[in-house]
Amino acid sequence: MGYNSGMAIRVLPPDLVAKIAAGEVVQRPASVVKELVENSIDAGAARIRVEIRRGGLDLIRVVDDGCGIPAEEVELAFHRYATSKLSGSDDAFGVRTLGFRGEALPSIAAVSRITLVTRPPHQEVGVSITLEGGRVVAMAHSSAAVGTVATVRGLFHNMPARLKWLKSPAAEGAQIAQLVGYFALAYPEIAFSLTADGRLLMSTEGRGDLLDAIAEVYGWEAAEAMVELRPEGGPPGVEISGWVSLSHYYRPNRQQLAVFVNRRWVLHRPLMAAVTEAYRTLLMVGRYPAAVINVGLDPARVDVNVHPAKLEVRLANEAEVCAAVYRAVRQALEGSSGSRAALGEAMPVAEAFAVPGSPGQQLALEMPQASTDVPGFPKLRVVGQVAAMYIVAEGPNGMYLIDQHAAHERVLYERFRAQLELSRPEVQLLLEPLVVELAPSEAALVPEATSALEQMGFQLEPFGASAVLVRAVPALMPSEELPQRIKAFLSEVLEGGRDRLLERAAVSLACHSALRAGRPLRHEEMEALVEELGRCRMPRTCAHGRPTMLELHQSLLERQFGRR
Ligand code: ADP
Ligand code: MG
Repeated sequence: MGYNSGMAIRVLPPDLVAKIAAGEVVQRPASVVKELVENSIDAGAARIRVEIRRGGLDLIRVVDDGCGIPAEEVELAFHRYATSKLSGSDDAFGVRTLGFRGEALPSIAAVSRITLVTRPPHQEVGVSITLEGGRVVAMAHSSAAVGTVATVRGLFHNMPARLKWLKSPAAEGAQIAQLVGYFALAYPEIAFSLTADGRLLMSTEGRGDLLDAIAEVYGWEAAEAMVELRPEGGPPGVEISGWVSLSHYYRPNRQQLAVFVNRRWVLHRPLMAAVTEAYRTLLMVGRYPAAVINVGLDPARVDVNVHPAKLEVRLANEAEVCAAVYRAVRQALEGSSGSRAALGEAMPVAEAFAVPGSPGQQLALEMPQASTDVPGFPKLRVVGQVAAMYIVAEGPNGMYLIDQHAAHERVLYERFRAQLELSRPEVQLLLEPLVVELAPSEAALVPEATSALEQMGFQLEPFGASAVLVRAVPALMPSEELPQRIKAFLSEVLEGGRDRLLERAAVSLACHSALRAGRPLRHEEMEALVEELGRCRMPRTCAHGRPTMLELHQSLLERQFGRR
């Protein structure tokens, strides 16, 4: 066959155009559920019931008790661009309702058989209308409760290509479940339920209590691990609310990390990154918190027109909003870890540093002060050390093993952060400047990193093509093996580029300054370390998010020894 197989250019028939356009809005069963539920929410419903069969392919039904559609307008609702939600044309920005384009119902109708039974409160009887392939096939008065029942059958029956492209009914159903979960989290004042193939999968009470909704959607374990966001001092016009999990709870993926903008669930990577960033040093790489966060913004600053299904939005002041979310989460986590020190309160500063070069390097630990009982951190009695790596201690609940490097890293990290907050990290001037050789790729990044490094207490200058001359380092760094520590620190920091440099550098500095595993410790040193760990804001994890201690509970020991 030649390239011209006899097909003339022609105008596509309107029903085909409709199908193609519908494909944008209605890509899969979950898209139908999304559009129908949004309509129910816009209709002011207090209860929304979703029912699906075979992942939505056989049936999708959304039942609401909202305002209904007057009989005389029902047909119009299926016309493209027919909407009751916009008054003037410039209204498309700054929308307050979920729908506004008037595309959903006609799009669904074009690719399925849809029946709407609807009655507004002021009408005695309702009306039932059925469309197939976009055409009205039946319409009649119908007895109906106030509200709307939308039933979609045979989705994509006239689009075999689309059908083939779908995942298994189980996978499509799972997407619907996740979606309905998001709605339930965004609207705790609405009672949602989801039934799949006759099984009730989820139902919320709609009492307006978000934590209740979280327990239903994420489960009790998550709900119990959560703290509420109560941001203080955020930017004006940015209202952040919600709940986030404490670090003992985590998931292997972001499935329980829901971010909403004006109660619309959005796939907004910078916002999600702002949340996970707040857990840096608290959760290991590859672990994610549970969170439900709503960011309330002036609708005029949110452009929802960038994505046909409105899943992505563009924010006018994205960086500011992300920073505010980060701060709100951070505040909630710090406020709830049994903290002694508020942000910015100075950590006690070590005295115990030896001048570089002097023998008999002391540990950068303070002597214990009057013990401050930190809720959430047990009072521990040091028993000894094993493998020159772990401190064995006794506490109220049993036995504890403390990783000396991880614990010290946490202590140094928090102390250094506190110094940074006060913008005066302690500095040690080196008697003789050190020349540190770097890889050329690392050396190239030095100019960009210089100001952050200076803020931390480093003084360095370029030296030849790929080396730096180090004149001063933060006092935190022990002089023992200083050149190796500086080199390892600089390589690690520069390798990561300029992204969040200061924070990463603080973690690296703590790590490369902390006690190494393999170092024998004196009893007082261990006591001092444990004491200081107990005074940390977040004593349970090191700066990389790994645990600092293991608890071997009394009951476990008893079980293991057959005493119980
Ligand atoms: P949009 O939501 O963008 O306005 P739709 O095609 O989704 O467009 O719906 C068209 C119109 O039908 C809506 O503007 C609304 O007036 C009406 N409508 C749709 N679903 C419902 C419902 N569940 N309850 C009340 N009215 C509805
Ligand atoms: Mg709509």
